[in-house]
Amino acid sequence: MFNSNNTVPELKNIDPSNLGDMPIEDFRKFGYQLIDWACDYFDSIDSIPVLPDVSPGDIKAALPDKAPERGEPCEDIIDDFKSKILPGVTHWNHPSFHAYFANTGSVPGIFGDLLSSVLNINGMLWKTCPSATELEEVVINWAKDLLYIPDEFFGMIIDTASLASLHALAAARENYDRFNIRVNGFQHKGDRPRFRLYCSDQAHSSIEKAAIVLGIGLENVCKIATDDQFRMRPEELNRCISEDKTNGFHPLAVVATLGTTSTTSIDPVKEISRVCRRHGLWLHVDGAYAGSASALPEYRWIMDGIENADSYVVNPHKWLFTPIDTSLIFVKDGDLLKKTFAVIPEYLQTPESEIAVDYMNYGIQLGRRFRSLKLWFVMRYFGKEGIVNRLRDHIRIARLFRSFVEESALFEPTAPTPFSVVCFRFNPGQGESELSETELKKLNKRLMDNVNATGKLYISHSMLKDKYSLRFAIGNIRTTENHIRASWEVITECAEKLM
Ligand code: PLP
Repeated sequence: MFNSNNTVPELKNIDPSNLGDMPIEDFRKFGYQLIDWACDYFDSIDSIPVLPDVSPGDIKAALPDKAPERGEPCEDIIDDFKSKILPGVTHWNHPSFHAYFANTGSVPGIFGDLLSSVLNINGMLWKTCPSATELEEVVINWAKDLLYIPDEFFGMIIDTASLASLHALAAARENYDRFNIRVNGFQHKGDRPRFRLYCSDQAHSSIEKAAIVLGIGLENVCKIATDDQFRMRPEELNRCISEDKTNGFHPLAVVATLGTTSTTSIDPVKEISRVCRRHGLWLHVDGAYAGSASALPEYRWIMDGIENADSYVVNPHKWLFTPIDTSLIFVKDGDLLKKTFAVIPEYLQTPESEIAVDYMNYGIQLGRRFRSLKLWFVMRYFGKEGIVNRLRDHIRIARLFRSFVEESALFEPTAPTPFSVVCFRFNPGQGESELSETELKKLNKRLMDNVNATGKLYISHSMLKDKYSLRFAIGNIRTTENHIRASWEVITECAEKLM
């Protein structure tokens, strides 16, 4: 317990030079060493296995249980990073990383991240770092221009798409003001709202997580059936909402996806927005992955209807070469987002709040990293043209990979390839001795494990309706046509061995 008579123990025999941070000359020395290490890493990354060869617990076992009593030399820490931590790293920055949504921590983005750590500002208020707030406003406007997002949307940077969707759906709940959940919680007397949330059966699990956090409940997330191209069926959505209304539920919001997680399918936002309007529902659009493609004029059509949406999310940390974590949330009614989250204690009141943006008022978190720096570096270094060219090349090589699948008698595509992800499977019995879905699942799982065990590339899988499918995702800035060809060779060699 705190006792005002407690004395601070005297610091005996302490050399004052042993207090404070690492000496600047060491920072310079080890900083250069680490940058040199990073250059060598990128230079030789092709020769490193993408996946580490470790089992659960291996990395922990190589590290002490307790923090050291006394500080250790930086050389030792760097040595241990190389010998004990790196062996357990999955190399997401590897050009042959094709699992999940492949992404890139590009070098300009790394610079932005580095400077953000050096400055270590907390951008909760304009006052606590005017540059952080205003650069965020600037890059948000640049992103609107690049990605065809309507000007009228208020935007901000947030860590992940999962939290962006949570914020958007919290605003939707606030917008449904009949129950005033912000004030009453779910404890108020009288009518208890039974909200409903709608998304397709291909939507990301983050929507269900948002339903858990917002008190909507998993049971009230209605998964709308999709068509043969994995797109939400608007007429089915309309039917479900009407039925729910008749049964006394409170339909709250619809989540449409641009680039679903498994197949990158594109929900018809415009038609969905008409259904939302008819029933007075909030429309949130999850463009976490494919939203980046709207930078390409030939893909602008995916944003048809976005002007009718209430909120939108896109992740530069997925397919815009920006280090994780960087997501952009856009809400048409910025004041509503503020109304949803603002709680301003005395100590956070500043005179500038009247005229400047205090981002802490628009979300859950108070403390905020200087995330705009990395996006600013990326957008300036590559420019719109550089970004467009790189995305276009990813789409080109994805189509090339798909053509390998189509031309092979042993493989088949399992979904359309609208962007840079190819869904396919090994099906050696096509047309002759057909294998059952169970057999195909086993076979493809073994193929995936064998391919990944080579260390030469990393692919992942998904269930597409009843089909176990492999996914080959392209999103790394260093991935070239040669990588794709080499990967295809590894996949076919592994498949032939399985025959
Ligand atoms: N939305 C979609 C469509 C996704 O595919 C993902 C992740 O893959 C997410 C949201 C969640 O992204 P995050 O990791 O940024 O929360």
